[in-house]
Amino acid sequence: NADAAMYQAKNGGRDSFQFFTPEMNTKAHERFAMQDAIRKGIARSEFYLDYQPQVDLRSGRIFAVEALVRWRHPVLGVLSPAQFISLAEETGLIVPLGDWVLNEACRQNKAWQDAGLAHLSVSVNVSARQFQEKDWPGRVIRALEENGLEAEYLELELTESLLMRNVDQAIATMKELQVLGVHFAIDDFGTGYSSLSALKSLPVSRLKIDQSFVRNLAHDEDDRSIISAVISLGQRLNMLVIAEGVETEDQLAFLRANGCDEAQGYHFSRPIEPKAMADLLKLR
Ligand code: C2E
Ligand code: MG
Ligand code: MG
Ligand code: MG
Repeated sequence: NADAAMYQAKNGGRDSFQFFTPEMNTKAHERFAMQDAIRKGIARSEFYLDYQPQVDLRSGRIFAVEALVRWRHPVLGVLSPAQFISLAEETGLIVPLGDWVLNEACRQNKAWQDAGLAHLSVSVNVSARQFQEKDWPGRVIRALEENGLEAEYLELELTESLLMRNVDQAIATMKELQVLGVHFAIDDFGTGYSSLSALKSLPVSRLKIDQSFVRNLAHDEDDRSIISAVISLGQRLNMLVIAEGVETEDQLAFLRANGCDEAQGYHFSRPIEPKAMADLLKLR
């Protein structure tokens, strides 16, 4: 049925129509296969976490690590989050995958502490679908308890869009965990639409300046202005400010000169596997 196969392309402009082609059917099929593969991948332990250090710019110390999920696909090899997170979010599979990530990050952090390494905080990225689950705080508390990790060593990274969707609800959910000692950060800050009046009432410890502002700061005065404005905002609101995607000495120098508290990026370390992270922590 040609009519049923026809649809108006969303971004195709006025009067622009497209048809499902055999190629597009293949893509839909691939999506379905991928969805199935994620489900099986969770059961078969194909996912793993790399960790990237977060550095305090005053002391030079690593005070935290961010957990970043990867998928060792049996055929396609190692896949990055960009290749599967949005599909996992659309299909709801981010809920079981996110539970696994949270649990594994808590387990690993506790294992490092038990091995005698400096006590760090572990940051975990949380998608809207997870955060909106009934009894999300309960899931977090269970992950902490089952792994024996104290709440103060866990930070949850949320995005502006997630927080602004329903601010009062977000605050209520966050407070349930905050009273226990869990910290919150706003990830990719500056790329979403935060209401400043909402921002001041959110129980957030840390703003993470999005890496897009850091990337071109050497050549873009606007980016420099935005970064220094976010640093001032954080200071006024009693939040720490961390810059993401720091790759060069010059970027670091600018951030330091402008009073940025913390930084994360390839300049310090790429995301690395737990063994390499333990070695890095022993060296410091
Ligand atoms: P994010 O949370 O903003 O994480 C930072 C991303 O920037 C990571 O990409 C990291 O590898 C990369 N990065 C760090 N330093 C640098 C740098 O100096 N230069 C450049 N060019 N990139 C840098 P990654 O690991 O590919 O993750 C991409 C995104 O996927 C994350 O962005 C996060 O939004 C999402 N993600 C990762 N793991 C999880 C997870 O467990 N759950 C959920 N829901 N999302 C996740
Ligand atoms: Mg993050
Ligand atoms: Mg980010
Ligand atoms: Mg992100």
